[in-house]
Amino acid sequence: MREAIGHEDALYGFKGGFDKSALNLGLKAGGYWPNNQKHGLINHQSTVFLFDPDTGRVSAAVGGNLLTALRTAAASAVSIKHLAPEGAKVLGMIGAGHQSAFQMKAAARVGQFERVIGWNPHPEMLTRLADTAAELGLPFEAVELPRLGAEADVIISITSAFEPLLMNGQVKGRTHIAAMGTDTKGKQELDPALVARARLFTDEIAQSLSIGEFQHASAAGSISDSDVTAIGQVITGNHEGRGDAEVTIFDGTGVGLQDLAVAGAVVDLARQQGKAIEVEI
Ligand code: NAD
Repeated sequence: MREAIGHEDALYGFKGGFDKSALNLGLKAGGYWPNNQKHGLINHQSTVFLFDPDTGRVSAAVGGNLLTALRTAAASAVSIKHLAPEGAKVLGMIGAGHQSAFQMKAAARVGQFERVIGWNPHPEMLTRLADTAAELGLPFEAVELPRLGAEADVIISITSAFEPLLMNGQVKGRTHIAAMGTDTKGKQELDPALVARARLFTDEIAQSLSIGEFQHASAAGSISDSDVTAIGQVITGNHEGRGDAEVTIFDGTGVGLQDLAVAGAVVDLARQQGKAIEVEI
């Protein structure tokens, strides 16, 4: 569940569930407050609450900001690992906000990229991409979207756009797109015609069609749920993945399981390292 709350342009919601194998029960509450710069805070704000699955008693409160950036970048990188065209050398970044640096770093861990090109609706933010590429030892160039779509083998989009940025005609050749920004009804980064011609993957099919990037092509009737494959099917070898597709898109909508898994792991680490603060409730 994720909705506008009619205050500070904020989008707020919950992602919850139970991972029975790791015994992580809980929820993440939070979202996106686009005016947070005036408070000296990043726009994404969230907290994960874990509960004891044996009793239902709350067991931990974990700051979710860093964990969200890491797990979202990891999800994108998993899609790149499994779906990028062979020999991918050029990484294209659309978006230069807080998440973008984490995204680029995770992509560089799974791909053999030789250069990064980037575009952002607010060009003054592009220094983040240039600095991150420099940290990774990769050359960076700011480009317009037609060049980005034509040259990049892998594209990550991670903006808070509410209208398509990357158009169908701009994407040339074998390309994988990790569409990571759209996680709420109404948000959009890609031309629905691009979605309609691509082979489609996501973390959670129902979510991709309702609040993810695929909501628009779905609403227009140009795709249906049978056109979308859960990325897990590719990872487990039950789906061929890219196959002979020219364009693949992974719609990373963000699922509670990711948040509970990373929060559970971090609580274990914090306890081991004596960094967890124990409180009576
Ligand atoms: P940020 O506020 O730090 O950066 C915002 C980015 O979006 C910048 O690139 C900015 O130029 C661009 N932008 C802002 N307003 C825009 C507009 N009206 N039209 C087009 N672009 C605009 O945000 P962030 O923390 O980097 O997050 C980026 C996006 O990723 C957000 O939409 C956030 O909700 C989403 N997100 C998704 C997941 C997921 O699991 N899929 C997880 C975390 C964040």
